[in-house]
This record gives sequence, structure tokens and C-alpha cells, in this order.
Amino acid sequence: MNLFLLEEFLDEYSEFSMRPIVDNAIVIKGNLHRELQHEFFGSINIDYSLIIHIPLDYPENLPLIFESKGAIPNSPSNHINPDGSFCLGSPLRLKILLKRNSDFKYFFEKCVLPYLFAVTINIHQNVGFPFGELEHGTTGLILDLQDFFHLKESSEVYQMLRILSSKKKNANRMVCPCGCKQRVTQCNYFQHILRMRKVLTRVEWEEQLQLI
Ligand SMILES: [Zn+2]
Repeated sequence: MNLFLLEEFLDEYSEFSMRPIVDNAIVIKGNLHRELQHEFFGSINIDYSLIIHIPLDYPENLPLIFESKGAIPNSPSNHINPDGSFCLGSPLRLKILLKRNSDFKYFFEKCVLPYLFAVTINIHQNVGFPFGELEHGTTGLILDLQDFFHLKESSEVYQMLRILSSKKKNANRMVCPCGCKQRVTQCNYFQHILRMRKVLTRVEWEEQLQLI
């Protein structure tokens, strides 16, 4: 990975420092003690010890973020993954975000700080996440893709991913995922397929297919 992608983050968040590489990931540690603002929910203070693993092939693979002092109880309602890392959203949305801007400071401010804001409110007030709650695991992933693909049924997601991960020549002969029973190229839905081919590459869509 290009270390330049970490520079702005380490400048802005000087409480963090780089540690030796572990398991093919750059490790960054620090105590984040800040006041966070939200236009609707006001301001809160957060105080967390974070360990950040940035894979050497970042941004191809996503960073993992952990809290190391046990300040965020490891429960599904706090959106903690089975490996103890934060569940920051669906892999698809995170991947698209990193394609737009792969600077780690951007990822941190768009995904990690909002997560810390929401989880802090959830821990102290026990009212659930105040915004953007995603269902867990594969169900959440499929619902997210259904919404993203503008499909009516979750069962149509699989066919859409098969089309997006096939070579165009083959894909254009396949049956449309929208339920019309026509070839993809004969349906108005084809415009969504053309749009999605610009969002991720065929191989990247194939990776999404492996996830469900
Ligand atoms: Zn159709």
C-alpha cells in the first residue's frame, strides 16, 4: 500500500502512532479522546483506545478497527463483528466509499467516527443506534444489495450478482433479475446493470457474490 494514504490521518490525529506490522497489516494505536459533534444529536465526549489494522493491500481490503480497553461491550447490539472489530457497514458500501477516496483520514471520518458516535449513544442511553442501522450478517448484506440494485425481491439479488460477475458477452444473454422473464438487454432494468458495471469491476462484483 501507499503510506501516503496514512499521512493526513497521522497529522490530524497525532494521538495515533504506527506500530510494527502484524499479520500483513500496518498497526496504528492511540487513545482517542475527543468531543464529537452531530448536527441533529448535539455533542458528546468519547474516550476510546483504538487499534487499527490496515492491510498491506489497502484499499483493496478494508481496515479493521478494535477498541482495546473493553469500553465497547462485545455484543451484537453494539455492532461488533465476531472477530471483535467494529461493524462499520456493509462491505459493499465501504468498498465503494474507498473507491471514491482511499485516503485513510476520509475513511476514519466517514465510517469510524460516526460509528463511535452512534455506539456511545447506544451504550449510555440504550436506545439503539441513532442512525443508519444495518441488519447483521448475510441478511443485512442481501437487503443492502437489494436496495442498492433497486430490486423488488431479495431473491433477485443473486441473479443480479451473477450477471455483474459474468463477462459482458455471456451476461447480456442471461435472464433479467427484475422478474420480467426477458433477456437483460430487452428490459428497462438493463440501465441499472450498465450503471453498476461502472461502480465496481466484474472481479469486484464476483467478490460480493462470494460474500452471500
Ligand atoms: Zn427485467
